[in-house]
Amino acid sequence: MKAEDNPRDGDLAEAVTVDDLHKSFGDLEVLKGVSLKARQGEVIAIIGGSGSGKSTLLRCINMLEWPTRGRIRVHGEEIAMKPDGNSGLMPANRKQIQRIRTRLAMVFQNFNLWQHMTLMQNVIEVPVHVLGRKRDEVIAEAETILRRVGLYEKRDAYPAFLSGGQQQRAAIARALAIQPEAMLFDEPTSALDPELVGEVLTVIRDLAEEGRTMLLVTHEMSFAREVASEIVFLHDGRVEEQGAPQTVFDNPESERLRKFISSVQ
Ligand code: ADP
Ligand code: MG
Repeated sequence: MKAEDNPRDGDLAEAVTVDDLHKSFGDLEVLKGVSLKARQGEVIAIIGGSGSGKSTLLRCINMLEWPTRGRIRVHGEEIAMKPDGNSGLMPANRKQIQRIRTRLAMVFQNFNLWQHMTLMQNVIEVPVHVLGRKRDEVIAEAETILRRVGLYEKRDAYPAFLSGGQQQRAAIARALAIQPEAMLFDEPTSALDPELVGEVLTVIRDLAEEGRTMLLVTHEMSFAREVASEIVFLHDGRVEEQGAPQTVFDNPESERLRKFISSVQ
């Protein structure tokens, strides 16, 4: 399908656009030309089997990895890349990278909270020490955010004393504190005991309803169906199928997608 045939084009400002992204680790080509677009307020759910390249895709978008080829735009601004002399790419403009990094927030499967800091310290660290915002102002905002994710009472606790669900909610609070323009979630509930999944999904659902732009890698198919504007199914480093949740889940074209859906439900 050509871009101009897509009715989703041109209707909302673009938040994150990935165009023909390739990524190799040595001889292993993990992403083989992935293109996708998240417009402001959209939730793009990325699904696919283990090893299909979902995390690598998010890590490239968040500039934790450098693609071998392709383009990434964040809010219409293309990330400048240049050859790294080793058949890959590297940042061409460090200042730009630092600036764009602060517009995207990533939430990882294993929370990745700073263990030696309290929840409050985790939440205010980047706004105060990286973004250089006023501490008092950031603390006031952090209190609101911690209330929102139900952790205000735990603000002085260290991560090790919290449940997985609480730690992940704290990680989401930390992500919100940088006032990101888009949030990237990499299987945010996969490391949780089943009884703790719901409390984290509730927070993410609330953010989706508020109109946050999100790229969400998840194995929670019913949740993806509920919150996503679009589903992207990755298989072996390529977009095998994409579309509206109802279409993708109720009427998958790809046999692989059909199998994948029945295997995770
Ligand atoms: P998914 O998140 O869909 O499970 P990943 O993006 O984590 O998939 O991984 C895709 C493939 O890339 C896997 O085969 C994985 O082993 C490989 N891979 C990921 N990161 C690296 C790395 N840093 N070095 C080498 N291979 C990697
Ligand atoms: Mg992964």
